Amino acid sequence: MQEKLNKLEKEIQRSLAEASDAATLEAVRIKYLGRKGAINMLFKEIAQMSIEEKKTCGEAINKLKNDTVSELNLRLERFKDKSKGRFELLLPGKMPPVGHFHPLSKVFNEIVMFFKSHGFTVETGPEIEYDWYNFGALNMAKDHPARDMFSSFFIKEDLLLRSHTSPVQIRVMENQKPPVKIICPGRCYRYDAFDASHSPVFHQVEALYVDKGVSLGELKWLLSEFVKYIFGPKTKYQLRPSFFPFTEPSGELAISCMVCGGEGCSVCSNSGWLELLGCGMVHPNVLKNVKISPKKYSGYALGMGVERVAMVKYIIDDIRVFYNNDIRFLEQF
Ligand SMILES: [Zn+2]
Repeated sequence: MQEKLNKLEKEIQRSLAEASDAATLEAVRIKYLGRKGAINMLFKEIAQMSIEEKKTCGEAINKLKNDTVSELNLRLERFKDKSKGRFELLLPGKMPPVGHFHPLSKVFNEIVMFFKSHGFTVETGPEIEYDWYNFGALNMAKDHPARDMFSSFFIKEDLLLRSHTSPVQIRVMENQKPPVKIICPGRCYRYDAFDASHSPVFHQVEALYVDKGVSLGELKWLLSEFVKYIFGPKTKYQLRPSFFPFTEPSGELAISCMVCGGEGCSVCSNSGWLELLGCGMVHPNVLKNVKISPKKYSGYALGMGVERVAMVKYIIDDIRVFYNNDIRFLEQF
């Protein structure tokens, strides 16, 4: 019997080694492990033997059976793996689509990075604001005509969706003595029609620096650095007078048109310049409202729409494309 077993074991090993695919392996399985296979036949043979012999031979046959089963399964797995992971050197690889930031997030992050690198810290505040923080403290009393510049969403008589991020500046100055050097990034709301240049929800970043002896010259230097950082070192800019109730004097920064390079085209209405942001020296009344002495301290403030900066930077003529989630647009960045 032992001799028979040894012979069979060698035969099985050879057959397994020769099997080159799953189908051949299956034939080997049927031949040796099937109901009428060689191993089962051996079990039948030992039926006539004595109990002692049955025990020894039975154990040996069982061992052969188990070894064959595990060896067969192992080889079967290997065939499966091979067919799964076939590797063709000459086939071009598959490039999975790569995600990236939304153009607004990109510009937003760039602006925030610029100011952080100049020592500003980031402050945020509520999007639902009191009239006082959104207007009153910013030198715009209830009957101030400048309120018309901000078509605001009022929730109650005294409560509104903030129409700029300036209320954050007031909240910070209320709680912190100068030096105050902050930026306030965030969402703002205005009752505007959703058209090519307006959106009822948009993003702003405002910067504020209040300390002893802060001058307009410092603001001008910061703006020139900002233009270089966001639009490149060769971009020309212009600081011209403007009006805001919360700054005095007030200014407006424009950069040379990215399309025509200042020659004049339809994008810049033939002026050669594109408006970018508003700025100025903090109005003494604003400082008084937060109990900071305008005799001792001065400061500058500036604010920009992130959408506006992105539109000027990437020459986009319709603000709505930022919110449409059109992959053909988004993939260009
Ligand atoms: Zn132009």
